[in-house]
Amino acid sequence: MAHLDWQYDPAPESAAIGRLRERYQLFVNGRFVDGRGEDVKTINPATEEPLAIVSTAGRADIDDAVHAARTAFDGPWSRLTPAQRGTYLFRIARGIAERARELAVVETLDNGKPIKESRDVDIPTASAHFFHHAGWADKLGHAGYGPAVRPLGVAGQVIPWNFPLLMAAWKIAPALAAGNTVVLKPAETTPLSALVLAEIIADADLPPGVVNIITGAGDIGAALVNHPGIDKVAFTGSTEVGKQIQASLAGTGRKLTLELGGKAANIVFDDAPIDQAVEGIVNGIFFNQGHVCCAGSRLLVQESIVDEVIAKLQDRISTLRVGDPMDKNTDVGAINSAGQLATITSLADAGDAEGATRWTSPCPLPDRGFYFAPTVFTDVSQSMRIAREEIFGPVLSVLTFRTPDEALAKANNTPYGLSAGVWTEKGSRILGMASALRAGVVWANTFNRFDPTAAFGGYQESGFGREGGRAGLAAYLDADDEPRTIDLDAADPNDADAMLAAALDEEIEDLLPPPPPASATADPIIDPDRVAVTKTYKLFIGGAFPRSESGRTYRASGGVDGSIVANVAQGSRKDARDAVSAARSAFGKWSRATAYNRGQVLYRVAELMEARRTEFVGLLGGGGTNERVVDAAIDRWVHYAGWTDKLAQVFGSANPVAGPFFSFSTPEPTGVVAAVAPADDPLLGLVAVLAPIIASGNTCVLLASPAWPLPAVTLAEVLATSDVPGGVVNILTGGPLEMAPHLAAHADVNALDLTGVNAAARPDLERAAAGTVKRVYSPGPQDFRRPPGTARLRAFLEIKTVWHPTGAVSLGGGGGY
Ligand code: NDP
Repeated sequence: MAHLDWQYDPAPESAAIGRLRERYQLFVNGRFVDGRGEDVKTINPATEEPLAIVSTAGRADIDDAVHAARTAFDGPWSRLTPAQRGTYLFRIARGIAERARELAVVETLDNGKPIKESRDVDIPTASAHFFHHAGWADKLGHAGYGPAVRPLGVAGQVIPWNFPLLMAAWKIAPALAAGNTVVLKPAETTPLSALVLAEIIADADLPPGVVNIITGAGDIGAALVNHPGIDKVAFTGSTEVGKQIQASLAGTGRKLTLELGGKAANIVFDDAPIDQAVEGIVNGIFFNQGHVCCAGSRLLVQESIVDEVIAKLQDRISTLRVGDPMDKNTDVGAINSAGQLATITSLADAGDAEGATRWTSPCPLPDRGFYFAPTVFTDVSQSMRIAREEIFGPVLSVLTFRTPDEALAKANNTPYGLSAGVWTEKGSRILGMASALRAGVVWANTFNRFDPTAAFGGYQESGFGREGGRAGLAAYLDADDEPRTIDLDAADPNDADAMLAAALDEEIEDLLPPPPPASATADPIIDPDRVAVTKTYKLFIGGAFPRSESGRTYRASGGVDGSIVANVAQGSRKDARDAVSAARSAFGKWSRATAYNRGQVLYRVAELMEARRTEFVGLLGGGGTNERVVDAAIDRWVHYAGWTDKLAQVFGSANPVAGPFFSFSTPEPTGVVAAVAPADDPLLGLVAVLAPIIASGNTCVLLASPAWPLPAVTLAEVLATSDVPGGVVNILTGGPLEMAPHLAAHADVNALDLTGVNAAARPDLERAAAGTVKRVYSPGPQDFRRPPGTARLRAFLEIKTVWHPTGAVSLGGGGGY
């Protein structure tokens, strides 16, 4: 048969549909205004031609925008009923849908992405995001964060250039649905679609100031997130800038969510449907020119099929049409900026220099504009930069593996943890891999699927917080439902919370059982002159009781009048490191234990404490009050034992995504949590901090109260004789403020609980935590006597979303039969 050499005819979308204006302004307080920064030109990366002039913000514009957002929050926006707020979001969703074709053209012209992607993915998903969240506005009480959740206030939001309108929708829609107002800064190179969205918002008649959009570069982003009038910061972008923002917010108490970079593994097993997998690999890395935080940029192929997969992949990539993004047949468009093109080029050059083998698609590239041909590197080793760093371009690094365990080890060998892909026909393997991959989204036999109902966000240095679905709402709500300590004398009678707490306090006092009568203590065999044995307590690390590496101890007392005296180990930096390594070793097994099993283990701790109840009461100083404290601590174990098998049911979800996929989200433990127990509540506070951390499968390094270490070390003895595996809980005594900085900076600690740290010491610890994007729970004073909420549990849970096509896997990774 004769070889058919045919080409697609050009099918360009008309740029006129974008109705670009010559000049764009900021959107502040419901009006389009000139900013006090310098005008910039935004260019079409496909042609390098200027598209429009954009006015940019100066510092005073940020003040104006934040002020407008605050005024709208304090006034008209908060006075609306939730249903009315929802109606505005419905209007925005409709507005986007009505102007979809125009928006697609604007997006493609400004960003360089293929028109078929703007048209079929970005714009419809942005509209769907507003639609989904519109419906949440009057149902927030059903979202699982308590019936009376409240908005946070003014949100400062900074977004990148890779999905300009979609990221704006991901940020604005949940913020408004939860009742907040916003100031959003799009990326300097892609401001246009956000400013068209501003027109849609103005047309929807939202009260002025509810949404403000200010343009400018990174310095304006930095000034916005650090503005004192902001209550909540949401950022999507590079891990490097995310860390800077987390550090700069240390100690401010402002709520932060970060959606950062990734280096996703896309894993292909030898039983995978290879043609479909090849489509998924292509989609995973070449969708949006690879400018995707969750791109499948590390391909892991089982060794036995690597030649076949690479050959098919190269064949398929050779057919991708690279070029004019406005052509409806284009598969891979322009790189967004000259700067990004330089980054991609230099990382690819590093691949050559480090010895990988480069293959480049033979596609022709346009003479003008920023383009990078689809590229595949083989002979890649894990240490190479192209296997470790986010390239954010159409460059795939291929590694191989022999066994599922090796695939898993390689996939998880990254500080990131945003997404992963798995290709196999085996259902059990899909679910096994999905649960063992440390990533916030796992696509099985598909890739790069997004839906407003399906939570999206990272583990580890890919950031924290979720966007989308019920889980995403938490980012914009004051959802800390742990009971707070309230100074009743100072409480404002008009503060409903304080008054409720006061009423509860009285109720609780009434409900508490009376202290048992004191027992007779006279005992004829007691020698009143007996010299007591002084006990020496060591640290509790990995299930054993080592001495402190420093060799230091200090004398601590307990009991009535300090009559119980003991030597207690004074932990050091080295002990803290040993404890982290013990906690890390224990994490795998403990996190995989069944929820039922963890529940049993926690319940057993309660039983063992009950058996030593009198001893604990004595350590606290005896008396009826302390009996009640010990009882409450025992009951707290029971409470959290009962939570272990509810977490997935309460915080997980089935996601009704649009398309032939089954998607679910499920909570998973964060990892190793370092916690500082409250200094003044040495037993109940300690248990209240520790139990929720380990109930959900985390392991813990706990710094005990320095003034009252004896209840903690006695609890360590209880734990050592319990069924809690060694290393799950590690208790260090000594000076917490000496050890905490090391834990905050330790790369293998995933999260910090600063409950026991005073306000003065928090900023430094929170800043140190930003170095590895640790999750930090830094609550105000809490009243541990009251029934706990769920915030302590949620603080150390990640939400993982899993997708799979329904029916047989079709080409393109979608569903079908
Ligand atoms: P950045 O993280 O620098 O930019 C993201 C957004 O943050 C932009 O709006 C940017 O403004 C703004 N910004 C920059 N510096 C600060 C700051 N100090 N404080 C607050 N906001 C700031 O990403 P880049 O655009 O520079 O891309 C660099 C690399 O980041 C890419 O090569 C890619 O690897 C990664 N990246 C990852 C993304 C993701 O979704 N995970 C998205 C984008 C990039 P402006 O752009 O106007 O200067």
